[in-house]
Amino acid sequence: MLIARNLTKNYSNLPVLKGVDIQVNKGEIVTIVGSSGAGKSTLLHLLGTLDTPTTGQISLMGQEVTRLKGRSLADFRNRNIGFIFQFHHLLPEFTALENVCIPGFIAGVSRKAVRERAAFLLDTLGLSQRYDHKPNALSGGEQQRVAVARALINTPAIVMADEPTGNLDSQNARELHQLFFTLRDQFSQTFVIVTHNEELAPLSDRQLVMKDGKIVDEILSARP
Ligand code: ADP
Ligand code: ADP
Repeated sequence: MLIARNLTKNYSNLPVLKGVDIQVNKGEIVTIVGSSGAGKSTLLHLLGTLDTPTTGQISLMGQEVTRLKGRSLADFRNRNIGFIFQFHHLLPEFTALENVCIPGFIAGVSRKAVRERAAFLLDTLGLSQRYDHKPNALSGGEQQRVAVARALINTPAIVMADEPTGNLDSQNARELHQLFFTLRDQFSQTFVIVTHNEELAPLSDRQLVMKDGKIVDEILSARP
């Protein structure tokens, strides 16, 4: 699903990633952990094709994405990758349900199918009473969960998440990781998740430990 070889990234000649190799299989849930400044977000941005490595190759679903540019890169990203970030940018003039549905409508899926999937995701995320609320009528945690549902509406093959539970209380955070497992089991989706949450990091198949721009350890998790 994802193979990255010898990734390095320099910011104004300062090395931030110093040779990272990663392989993630289809349907795997991998967490990336490590102290602040280790390079986790930088790595996730490279794997998600949002930024380009200084050296190295990334292949996603058999496509060498480090060769794609412009429109073909944007198309590949929109079709295959879902992003969950902490700063969620919901559209303020639309309701929660509409925010979740919009990427599905844009993708051209039937309106009925999109609404059903949006309702399933919102319900699973504990938002069944919030369909018609606009973002400013929702708490920070609720807005984050709407953004998660929106990221998942088109069932992207691979989901890149940067601190997806950062705004959530511990119960909602645990439920979000459980949703990732449900989706993996149902749709074989693949998840790469950067997290500081030591309780949740093991709620994965595998933890990659980053330190000072490198992956220094790999911990296999017991299936929760
Ligand atoms: P983590 O996610 O593990 O906290 P980051 O990938 O955010 O680590 O950052 C790794 C290092 O790269 C840090 O020292 C950070 O200051 C630096 N860095 C990140 N982004 C940039 C940037 N755009 N320009 C310069 N330095 C950056
Ligand atoms: P969470 O734990 O999800 O962050 P909060 O404790 O912040 O939730 O909010 C509890 C309830 O208050 C939520 O159901 C939410 O809908 C409501 N609420 C929070 N902030 C606002 C707001 N600015 N306007 C209206 N309702 C709000």
